[in-house]
Amino acid sequence: MTEKERAIFQKALDTWGGDAQSLCLLEEMAELQDALCKHKRGRRTTADIAEEIADVGIMLDQMKLYFHIEEETQAQRARKTARVEERLKNWVKE
Ligand SMILES: [Mg+2]
Repeated sequence: MTEKERAIFQKALDTWGGDAQSLCLLEEMAELQDALCKHKRGRRTTADIAEEIADVGIMLDQMKLYFHIEEETQAQRARKTARVEERLKNWVKE
């Protein structure tokens, strides 16, 4: 996240609290799930999905700040991305 985003998200945490923002994350994840499900039935657009992914990303960034795990999250992401890469090398389509 950018420094500007970090400042805004930290202010959101300071203003509304980590517990409330954690609940917002759950709400936003549910909204993304809803958008993905409804897109399958032609009732949501890819723009709707993009909006919900953005919302979830914003809340995830706040959770990284709240739990002080930004670097740890990045390290886990790198490790798991490498794992996906390894699985793809060994993937054999049936
Ligand atoms: Mg939303």
